[in-house]
Amino acid sequence: MIQTDIIIIGAGPVGLFTVFEAGLLKLKCHLIDSLPQAGGQCSEIYPKKPIYDIPGFPSILAGELIDNLMEQAAPFKPGFTLGEAALSIEKTNENKFIVTTVKGTKHEAPIVIIAGGLGVFEPRKPPISNISDFEDKGVEYIIKDPEFYRGKRCVIAGGGDSALDWSIFLTENKIASEVVLVHRSSSFRGHLDSVQKVIDLAEKGEIRLITEAEVTGLSGNDQLDKAIVTHQKDGEIAIETDHFIPLFGLKPSLGPIADWGLEIEKNAIKVDTLDYSTNIPGIYAVGDVNTYENKLKLILCGFHEGTLAVQSAFARIHPDKKNVLKYTTVNGIQGF
Ligand SMILES: Cc1cc2nc3c(=O)[nH]c(=O)nc-3n(C[C@H](O)[C@H](O)[C@H](O)COP(=O)(O)OP(=O)(O)OC[C@H]3O[C@@H](n4cnc5c(N)ncnc54)[C@H](O)[C@@H]3O)c2cc1C
Repeated sequence: MIQTDIIIIGAGPVGLFTVFEAGLLKLKCHLIDSLPQAGGQCSEIYPKKPIYDIPGFPSILAGELIDNLMEQAAPFKPGFTLGEAALSIEKTNENKFIVTTVKGTKHEAPIVIIAGGLGVFEPRKPPISNISDFEDKGVEYIIKDPEFYRGKRCVIAGGGDSALDWSIFLTENKIASEVVLVHRSSSFRGHLDSVQKVIDLAEKGEIRLITEAEVTGLSGNDQLDKAIVTHQKDGEIAIETDHFIPLFGLKPSLGPIADWGLEIEKNAIKVDTLDYSTNIPGIYAVGDVNTYENKLKLILCGFHEGTLAVQSAFARIHPDKKNVLKYTTVNGIQGF
């Protein structure tokens, strides 16, 4: 049994900063995440994209932000259970919670802070009957490491920023040997400058752009080697390829947390903005996973929420102690 002061479910940016704020109050945290690495959406979806609205950083890559948050949390020695989704929660007679993961790892603490973001990531998949046969055998729904595609032929599908940006990145950096972008409409949802860049690269013959078309079939002997594209006017086109990467976004799904007796509204956990507590005393929800009037799903808002939640957690853990706000400029960082 892993014992700690606060169990944080979700090691995204908000969960990581909450470790720091809890540490300032001398509360120890243990993070659980279903992904094999910390960083949530920043690491999983857009590690190489610059973020422009983190206070004090005119521009920072999402991956770099996570590295910095890990460094900032390090003095407080957080524990990590990675690659395991939190499955169930129960209350003990000592007024503590036990959170158990899908692999049976148990964690006990008086406070649970849910920083589960979009929940357990579920990509939107195109309706191709045999697509699951090729998952991790040429079909990927997220680009984690562009180097994986070096020298490979890639068919990317989608009309949003991810599809456009990765098509540009894999082409301009001469990573993929061939990029085919397939989109079912002739107009795109992504940023106008990305759309223009893709059109320019297509005109130069560096990207093969097929619009008003969808990938409707996949074939190969164990490993993917062909994608069938059905064009609205021209019919079927067979494209030899090593990878098919449909980038249609992620379906928000709270996963197991939805069955924990928490008040849920539109797939998010309702909280009191006084301290981001949920309807279950001792359980808080911060970051993208929560909802309240005027909620903004922004990293900086999540940082604020985590900060207030741990102040309230401190009062629950130490009802007899008064917590006086101390500036880090005065006290410095006293780690564990
Ligand atoms: C392409 C893109 C660009 C963006 N750009 C910006 C931007 O410029 N500025 C900005 O402020 N925001 C931006 N965002 C939004 C920002 O990424 C989110 O607001 C932020 O990631 C929320 O952080 P979080 O820690 O609350 O959740 P997340 O980052 O979603 O992390 C939650 C973590 O919880 C884990 N988890 C969920 N359920 C469980 C469970 N049951 N057990 C274990 N683990 C679980 C997940 O695996 C995940 O790692 C962008 C998002 C995207 C997709």
